[in-house]
Amino acid sequence: MAAFVDEVNISVQAGDGGDGCVSFHREKYVAAGGPDGGDGGRGGNIVFLVDDNLSTLIDFRYKRKYVAANGANGGPNNSFGKGADDLIIKVPRGTVVTDRQTGRLLADMSGSEPVIIAKGGRGGRGNARFATATRQIPRFAKPGFKGQKLELKLELKLLADVGLVGFPNVGKSTLISVVSSAKPKIANYHFTTLTPVLGVVKVSEGNSFVMADIPGLIEGASDGIGLGHEFLKHVERCRLIIHVVDVSGSECRDPIEDFEVINRELRRFSEELANAPQLVAANKCDLASKEQIERFKEYVASKGYQVFEISAATTQGTKELIAATANELSKLPPLKIYQPDPVEEWRPEELARDRSFDVRVEDGVYIVDADWLEGVLRMVDVDDYESLQHFQLVLRSTGIIDRLIELGIEDGDTVSVCGFEFDYVS
Ligand code: GDP
Ligand code: MG
Repeated sequence: MAAFVDEVNISVQAGDGGDGCVSFHREKYVAAGGPDGGDGGRGGNIVFLVDDNLSTLIDFRYKRKYVAANGANGGPNNSFGKGADDLIIKVPRGTVVTDRQTGRLLADMSGSEPVIIAKGGRGGRGNARFATATRQIPRFAKPGFKGQKLELKLELKLLADVGLVGFPNVGKSTLISVVSSAKPKIANYHFTTLTPVLGVVKVSEGNSFVMADIPGLIEGASDGIGLGHEFLKHVERCRLIIHVVDVSGSECRDPIEDFEVINRELRRFSEELANAPQLVAANKCDLASKEQIERFKEYVASKGYQVFEISAATTQGTKELIAATANELSKLPPLKIYQPDPVEEWRPEELARDRSFDVRVEDGVYIVDADWLEGVLRMVDVDDYESLQHFQLVLRSTGIIDRLIELGIEDGDTVSVCGFEFDYVS
């Protein structure tokens, strides 16, 4: 059996937008046409979608990096670059997605709607967009914008109305197998259940609820000693808890003691969980004496809980337990869905291209190191005044000119940018 994985870290990267194109309309016998460079296409989004065939996050153990495709560059003849397809990432229902850098909850994948987690970058605009009455020959276009890049934490918080809790071997798996569609492994040793199992319990036509078999809690579980702790978070969302106790004491423990230990563990994990509505199933009644049952029922009832005598193995009393559960659920609020934290509107402009640079002086030449400038240069026509002006504007707005002045540049000095040299003119 594959291990149950309920928490993973992954990184996602939406696609970059394609670059805008510089091009001019050409036709036979027409000397020079207008600008017709198209826009770049949008980069692919990273989209999350629930897939009910998945029950754990195990696949993310093996693949941790997800990259959506980039948009295509724009082309001549006003042809727009093709937008890239979104990258769809399938997750089990109940996956909670958090941005690890900001700690913000981005999405609770509980519904069936796809959710855009990281946005693809917009395409850059082609030169056709920059034509104005005074600038008829724009020899520049814009590069695309960077796609959003995020470090994510995925946590699986099951969506079940009812969670079964109790010591190992008390009969939780047996119970869920007789009242629901779930077919978990049942065996007479501890920790047979390593993966929470979900089952749909049909109460009547059109009335059903989801039950989760949570692996056995053991003493100290809420301190992270046993298996229990990591599984307790699965019951966090449950609307109601069915606390299963082996009332026959078939494993030589005192059922009252068991009942208290588990409740203490729940309380240690979270007060909210301890105070969640709880029904008690006194299981293995077929093995217990009348006195054992009465003693337990009396104790539990005195603590204010409803208690049900059942034998999961023979299904005795399970109907009544399920009826009471459905009745309680009808009075309870719906399943808890986590609301995403407000996220500031992502502004691709600010994230667009890394604008860091480095300037050094070698033999009187001012050398500017900036990978991103290459992309800008590619689109500059050095013989064109307007195009050069645009390039200068970039140098100015990104602080490169200021840095050159700081370093003492004077008119006529040589500036070298990505192998392209020009004279500095203030
Ligand atoms: P879990 O660890 O709580 O999931 O317990 P299981 O459902 O795997 O059951 C543990 C053992 O107890 C299995 O051998 C079951 O057949 C047995 N068992 C469960 N319920 C009953 C019951 O009501 N009566 C009897 N006699 N045995 C039961
Ligand atoms: Mg079990």
